[in-house]
Amino acid sequence: MKIISCPLELKEYLKGENNSTSFQGNRTIGFVPTMGALHQGHISLIKKAKEQNELVVVSIFLNPTQFLKGEDLDKYPKRDEADKQICKLSGVDILFFPHVADMYTNDEVTLCAPKVRGYVLEGNSRPSHFNGVLTVVMKLLNIVTPTRAYFGKKDAQQLNLISLMVKQLFMSTQIIPVDTVRESDGLALSSRNAYLSPNDREEALKISSSLRQASAMVVKNILDSKEIIKEMRNTLGDLEVFYVEVLNRDFEQLSHVEIGNTIILVEVRVGTTRLLDNIWL
Ligand code: AMP
Repeated sequence: MKIISCPLELKEYLKGENNSTSFQGNRTIGFVPTMGALHQGHISLIKKAKEQNELVVVSIFLNPTQFLKGEDLDKYPKRDEADKQICKLSGVDILFFPHVADMYTNDEVTLCAPKVRGYVLEGNSRPSHFNGVLTVVMKLLNIVTPTRAYFGKKDAQQLNLISLMVKQLFMSTQIIPVDTVRESDGLALSSRNAYLSPNDREEALKISSSLRQASAMVVKNILDSKEIIKEMRNTLGDLEVFYVEVLNRDFEQLSHVEIGNTIILVEVRVGTTRLLDNIWL
């Protein structure tokens, strides 16, 4: 596995990889952007990228511009050596591991998230978050120019906005959504789970329970969004709830669940940690 930190060096290297191959035309590149502290969720993205592409690039970059002042940038878990091993063992071809100075200067062109879809849900309580996400993903896609880029459905709003960006800015990478990986008790894997105390972790199970409950209601043909949200909020109990929403795949509110076109999303605070999860129905 080749490790590169300089964006221009990576561009040159990828050009060389294409020129040196016996393939007619370019090799397909699968790209998995991450912020590190890798877990099985990230590994499932890498596996899918390996299945579908000839070359796999993973980036590890803790992007400062998507954190608001006072958020957890400084305490975000860092496991550089373990992450490198995980990438190597997962068959990653190139690990892109830039420093902040490799990615940003102090006077930058930036992208703005759409005024509606970028400022609801997570964007409501973290107003500039998605500007930072879109800007860094744009930079990364321009550096790697992948055939396909892989994003988790767990971060459904992020996935939706990145898909919109690629479509509206006529970019040529295909965005591939990947299912959420969970612990056996239902908790969605997240690098931020490392912040949870044993008691927090127990409390956090209410999130996946509430989503299971929603899907059980739908199975019983209870499709009314208000009813579903009420039951879910009951299950979430005294956790601080940022939102529980029943939306269609374009992120518009639904009065009733439409099978095949619905995402139910939850974000709560457990202890000091914000956790989000969702279910696609
Ligand atoms: P992060 O390092 O948290 O920025 O995540 C990098 C990518 O992994 C994003 O596309 C996430 O949506 C995805 N991801 C994070 N957690 C999971 C999970 N439990 N299952 C599947 N994908 C995930």
